[in-house]
Amino acid sequence: MKTIMDFTKEELKDLIKPSFRAKQIYNWIYQKYIQNFEDMKNLPKNLREDLKRKYLISPLKIERVEISKDGSKKYLFKLQDGYTVESVLLPMKKEQRDKEGKIIHHARYSICVSSQVGCKMGCSFCLTAKGGFIRNLTPGEIAAQIVEIKKDNKIDPNRRVNIVYMGMGEPLDNLENVVKAVKIIQDQDGLSISPRRQTISTSGLSHQIKRLGEYDLGVLLAISLHAVDDKLREELMPINKAYNIESVINAVKDFPIDQRKRVMFEYLVIKDINDDIKSAKKLVKLLHGIKAKVNLIYFNPYPSSPYQRPSKESMESFKEYLNKHGITCTIRESKGLDISAACGQLREKSEAK
Ligand code: SAH
Ligand code: SF4
Repeated sequence: MKTIMDFTKEELKDLIKPSFRAKQIYNWIYQKYIQNFEDMKNLPKNLREDLKRKYLISPLKIERVEISKDGSKKYLFKLQDGYTVESVLLPMKKEQRDKEGKIIHHARYSICVSSQVGCKMGCSFCLTAKGGFIRNLTPGEIAAQIVEIKKDNKIDPNRRVNIVYMGMGEPLDNLENVVKAVKIIQDQDGLSISPRRQTISTSGLSHQIKRLGEYDLGVLLAISLHAVDDKLREELMPINKAYNIESVINAVKDFPIDQRKRVMFEYLVIKDINDDIKSAKKLVKLLHGIKAKVNLIYFNPYPSSPYQRPSKESMESFKEYLNKHGITCTIRESKGLDISAACGQLREKSEAK
């Protein structure tokens, strides 16, 4: 059965008359986290019944949750057809209270969502790649990950969260559905998460980066670079044969981005593979002329993984080199290292059982 969450509000307006019903439905689903049409009290009874016959609300169910010591929470969701995908809730800042116990700063969260079941890209370091590609997620399946997580954690509907499309799958290989998901998620009568708080991460499908740019959604872009020369990048990421580093850099240069924002380059650091200063040097050259920031990620080993985690020292010196040469660089804290850090790893564990 199709989920009503697959529709943008504009589409719902065309579908359901009078059109103000679309706003009411959006309110129930995305702000009140209501899961039954019967509970949508301000809709006429016959409409509620009609909707119930035709549509599902949430297309996914929580199958499993793992909580890490640092507070990040990893969710395994089961879809209607039985496949599973992962999402992660990452607390970025703790709630702060004054002496009287009044909240002065609310907690800040990011939610990492999946865009596909599996992935076609076949990156050698990534566990999601191992199971191959199964199918695209629909826009509603993407948006529902956020609603389920906000609901499960009793996150206030008005509390804005940041969204990163860094879960399972390659978002730009599912461009139309991801674009629609961005629109559903940003809707002011719904989750109301501005595109400037939504970051789409890609392995670098240059042609699709260009197409995403043409939609001019205002989303932020993250590029999974991971290597500075084509030979190594091809080994790590076969997609580099079709879209080499130069084509990715050129696509980034043309991408419309808010003047105050930067493009994020993710660099997965693997011991003795790409953790040397020569690579850092090349990276500085490569990013010349781009408003970029670099995020270094520790490679997270899994059973039978062909690579190793880099040392803290090599991470630090890589970072320092970049910072010294004018490129903002941070090391991604290994949130949830004690659970199943990188995406794909929780699903793997569940299937192994
Ligand atoms: N397909 C897109 C979207 C996210 S992939 C992309 O590649 O950009 C999921 C994220 O997990 C990427 O940032 C990837 O670099 C990271 N990742 C995959 N395997 C990992 C591992 N073993 N250790 C650490 N990070 C990993
Ligand atoms: Fe796909 Fe991203 Fe994993 Fe590569 S790193 S296989 S693009 S999910």
